[in-house]
Amino acid sequence: MSWDFETEPEYQAQLDWADKFVREEVEPLDMAWPDLQFVPRGETLQRVVDPLRQQVKDHGLWATHLGPELGGQGHGQLKLSLLNEILGRSSWAPIVFGCQAPDTGNAEIIAHYGTEAQKKQYLQPLLDGECFSSYSMTEPQAGSDPTQFTCSAVKDGDGWVINGWKFFSSNASTARFVIVMVVTNPDVSRYRGMSMFLIPTDTPGVNIVRNVGLPGEPLGEGHHALIHYEDVRVSDDALLGGEGQAFAIAQTRLGGGRIHHAMRTIGLAKKALDMMCERALSRSTQGSLLADKQFVQGFIADSYAQLAQFRLFVLYTAWSIDKHKDYRKVRKDIAAVKVVMPAVLHDIASRALQVHGALGASNEMPFHQMVMGSFVMGLADGPTEVHKVTVAKQVLRDYKPTDDLWPTEHLPKRLAAAREKYAEYLELEVGNL
Ligand SMILES: Cc1cc2nc3c(=O)[nH]c(=O)nc-3n(C[C@H](O)[C@H](O)[C@H](O)COP(=O)(O)OP(=O)(O)OC[C@H]3O[C@@H](n4cnc5c(N)ncnc54)[C@H](O)[C@@H]3O)c2cc1C
Repeated sequence: MSWDFETEPEYQAQLDWADKFVREEVEPLDMAWPDLQFVPRGETLQRVVDPLRQQVKDHGLWATHLGPELGGQGHGQLKLSLLNEILGRSSWAPIVFGCQAPDTGNAEIIAHYGTEAQKKQYLQPLLDGECFSSYSMTEPQAGSDPTQFTCSAVKDGDGWVINGWKFFSSNASTARFVIVMVVTNPDVSRYRGMSMFLIPTDTPGVNIVRNVGLPGEPLGEGHHALIHYEDVRVSDDALLGGEGQAFAIAQTRLGGGRIHHAMRTIGLAKKALDMMCERALSRSTQGSLLADKQFVQGFIADSYAQLAQFRLFVLYTAWSIDKHKDYRKVRKDIAAVKVVMPAVLHDIASRALQVHGALGASNEMPFHQMVMGSFVMGLADGPTEVHKVTVAKQVLRDYKPTDDLWPTEHLPKRLAAAREKYAEYLELEVGNL
């Protein structure tokens, strides 16, 4: 029997340190510099952030998303999950701990598929926190349906020429490089005819047409780029993995990305639950505390149960990834976690907002960002509906149809079978009456 829900004391001590550190030292950054996480740091921010990062390094918690087999110092997905649920409280925390999306996923695929030269040029600076990266897959006319992608690379001498459009490439305007997924062979299925390229963002022809923001950000400002790749020339060395391997690489990248978002979402939803409970115990109306009203008790109980279920599911999925060391073997559960995640955050943040009344709906509380964040979680790395289809297909693989007219569990059939199996005893019973 090896089921165990306890964290080993040494790692728990590191987590306790991280929890205090994030609350006291990192969360204030969210207030002081709310939008500068992915902007190269000027002198002032370096003076603030670099010592914090050094403390994380000193505690052995820097960039733990990659295990030693991939050149990192990670401890696996289960331990990362326990850390990420602490970091999820704060938008700056992943940056201070060197494990922010989309850089973690990008680092993972370079570690898996990159050449030594690519690792030196792109992976090491990423792991050292010296630069940002962007992942450029979604297209304006195609969304994330690869069968409709048109952005392409055409062979030209000992290199390639890339042309086409990409949409919502997060952080492209501040990234040192993009990983772009393009069609390299239009004559075969897109699943075999696409490749990935590593391209420095200052390469001529990488044109950021505009940055798209999320609600609350001014029009024309934001972090998600519409990019026009216009006659972008790259050498063969820019190819990540083999030609035609993009789909397999994307699966590796998105598997990790999705579960990491889920880990951080636990932390954000827990923060909303904490706020809900504090308010319920502090605010009194019509003769009693909110905490004494049954509707509010229902909010709290439902939120606690929803979060506990989600957390255990995420931890179990992380444990499965560690066990199999292959995202494809855990695809069903990663997709199911992705499906559950937006609803958990949406429900708990909405209830917390409601319990705060008008204050909750105001711009003086963070609930609107959390609720909006739940919609983002239902789209980024693929819409919920697509993941539900994946879950259903994977679940159905474990079943087969019956060739009988009646279902296997049809009660008359089961009863007849049971009577036949125990006929000897049933006859005896009848005989004894
Ligand atoms: C904050 C944020 C950051 C992002 N960052 C990146 C990034 O860095 N790089 C990148 O490449 N992309 C990024 N994306 C894009 C993201 O991957 C896409 O938004 C997502 O895959 C859906 O594509 P779409 O927006 O074009 O929606 P569409 O494909 O147009 O889908 C719209 C809706 O149609 C429904 N739908 C779609 N397909 C199906 C289906 N098969 N079955 C049933 N219903 C379906 C769903 O309700 C879906 O929400 C980001 C998105 C967000 C919101």
